[in-house]
Amino acid sequence: MKLIFLGPPGAGKGTQAVKIAEKYQIAHISTGDMLRAEMREGTKLGNEAKSLIDRGELVPDDVILGMVKNRIQKEDCKNGFLFDGFPRTIAQAEALEEISAIDYVINLDVPAERLISRISGRRMCAECGAGYHVSTYADANCKCGAALYQREDDKEETVRNRLVVYERSTKPLIEYYTRKGLLHTVNGDASIDVVDAAIRAVLSK
Ligand code: AMP
Repeated sequence: MKLIFLGPPGAGKGTQAVKIAEKYQIAHISTGDMLRAEMREGTKLGNEAKSLIDRGELVPDDVILGMVKNRIQKEDCKNGFLFDGFPRTIAQAEALEEISAIDYVINLDVPAERLISRISGRRMCAECGAGYHVSTYADANCKCGAALYQREDDKEETVRNRLVVYERSTKPLIEYYTRKGLLHTVNGDASIDVVDAAIRAVLSK
């Protein structure tokens, strides 16, 4: 199974992606996580991406496509994969068509006014990449034991720009994948389990 999770920042793509990738035993490919790993390791790519990411801008398409092409060759993608945060532009979607077919595109729909509060309460684990929300998890440490931190680009000013960038560059993918007959919109403004069940219902059709 080959899936794309679309949606604005804060829609819950990462949270839902972990659950679905586990259920279907497919690779969870988050281009954001891959870029953060590059930044942590201080690679050339990571250093170049950092200033764009910290400002809420997109990393150039060719950089992202190079990463994704390598990633889907890996052994754990044999059963399929779930893209979380990719594609983010029409150019990325067109290039993806040249390298792989896709079975479903899940569009997580969350009202714009809910996104800022969701993102500003978000905390991440630097070690395992798990995500939490302060409203449901008050600990300073991840379940794996490592300290949690707030992403630089989850601060309010940057979030506002990320939402502008989403509207301009990523939202047009909703129409793009509707035209291809692949898009399934799921209400993302519900509990984690309710959203998970709605996604599973689409995938079991
Ligand atoms: P995310 O963790 O998906 O919210 O991504 C964090 C940041 O990484 C984004 O705001 C972009 O700066 C960059 N990024 C992640 N995925 C992509 C992509 N497919 N295309 C361009 N930039 C990306």
